[in-house]
Amino acid sequence: MKLGVDRDHGLVSIIDGRVVPVGDVVGVPEGHTDPLLWLLAQDDRALRLAQAARETGGRDLIPASLAAPIARPPKVIAAPVNYLDHKLEMKEQSTIAQYGVFLKAPTSVIGPSGTIELPYSDMRIDQEGELGVVIGTRGRNIRQADALSHVFGYTCVLDISVRSTEDRSTRKSYDTFTPIGPWITTADEVPDPGKLDLTCSVSGELRQRASTADLIYDVALLIEYASSVMTLEVGDIIATGTPAGVGALTDGDVVRVEIESLGGFEVPVSAKNAIPYARRPGL
Ligand code: MN
Repeated sequence: MKLGVDRDHGLVSIIDGRVVPVGDVVGVPEGHTDPLLWLLAQDDRALRLAQAARETGGRDLIPASLAAPIARPPKVIAAPVNYLDHKLEMKEQSTIAQYGVFLKAPTSVIGPSGTIELPYSDMRIDQEGELGVVIGTRGRNIRQADALSHVFGYTCVLDISVRSTEDRSTRKSYDTFTPIGPWITTADEVPDPGKLDLTCSVSGELRQRASTADLIYDVALLIEYASSVMTLEVGDIIATGTPAGVGALTDGDVVRVEIESLGGFEVPVSAKNAIPYARRPGL
């Protein structure tokens, strides 16, 4: 099942290019701003109702009308340096074994209808296409062997990154720096998250093409590692890291990320609020 959030129709199931509103049948509270996060916190019955509603009705899918499937995840955990080819291009000596994982601000999340806003006019800011894991069952000290049972589903993530000297959590936490979507594909439709082709292009130029088979820490190991540090909560998102091919974004670009079995989406890039790097506060 593919579950998303449409700006006009709220919680939707996506079937064959159509969106089927399911908010009413599953009982999403009126005016709830994060209906899919609400659904994840319910028992299995709500999910079964969403599944049962899938064949009834539907409207044409308008990609630009989709919001982030989860607007405010409790946490966005991200993996640095998790493909060997990206490690080489960044001339990195270390991986997660030395760096651990880092956190991105939940307020950096946008959806397919959003726009990446470049904060600086004169500092390199890159795209990073990544597989995103959505946690469905809370846990701490989760073993690799049990890890995938904690996954609700998968989504595409762009981990937008300023290439300056601050810690990763700062460089990657600007508002709009975590586009996710276009929806969440439930884990039952992704039997092996370690065998997915990923592509990322910028304004029609293919920059990244990889398989999640090349992840240094695969999904299960990332869950074991991250949950050895912090409790994983329902709705947390883990960005699994990016392959080689990161590159600078400029005003007017369009970034597209696509993952096998999950679909894809694109978002524009704007520099209209960009300031010179030297004008940031505190200098
Ligand atoms: Mn990344």
